[in-house]
This record gives sequence, structure tokens and C-alpha cells, in this order.
Amino acid sequence: MDTKNMRVLALGEEATLGDTRFYPGARLLITCSLCGWAKSYNVERVIERLRQLKSGGQPTRLGQVARRVAWPCPGCGRVKWRAQFAYPPGFSEADHRRLTNRYRN
Ligand SMILES: [Zn+2]
Repeated sequence: MDTKNMRVLALGEEATLGDTRFYPGARLLITCSLCGWAKSYNVERVIERLRQLKSGGQPTRLGQVARRVAWPCPGCGRVKWRAQFAYPPGFSEADHRRLTNRYRN
């Protein structure tokens, strides 16, 4: 996925993975703080994985998610990650409304 043009949500590190329910369609974006290399993930799948490992889930904060990433950055080889929610490129307000309605029903 094209992570360069993703629209990052202005949430702090205290936001939790469970907050994804307020932002349907958003993905979890893991970005290297040093060089900007980034990769995005399906939030539900990350929550499921943490629950399987019994090491987190919906209450896990974005700051904790970032610190859990142990692999070195493919771009610069260092380990300093940032975790954020972001909408994929081209994701519109209309998409947001449609997904929000689907979630409600
Ligand atoms: Zn890097």
C-alpha cells in the first residue's frame, strides 16, 4: 500500500487500538521516526494477534504498540517506531460516512 499519501489522524500516543471503531477504514501506520520508512496494517488483525499472544488488544495504546515493534527499520536499520492511525490514499468523507453507517447497523 502507498503509505506516503496516507492521511494520518492527529491522535496522541494515548489513543488505543480499540479507538479504531471511531475511525472506520483507518489502518495502523507504523513509521520509522528516524527516516520515515512506513508500513500499514489492518487494525483488527493487529488487535486479534495481540489477544492471541495475550499481550494486549483493544486497550493497548498506540505508544505501547510502537515500543513493541522490535525489528529494525529496513530503511535505516535502527529501531525507533511511531504508531498512528491513517486513512488510505483517496479515502473520502463519503467513504467514512458509509463505513460509519455500516458499523452502526
Ligand atoms: Zn528508518
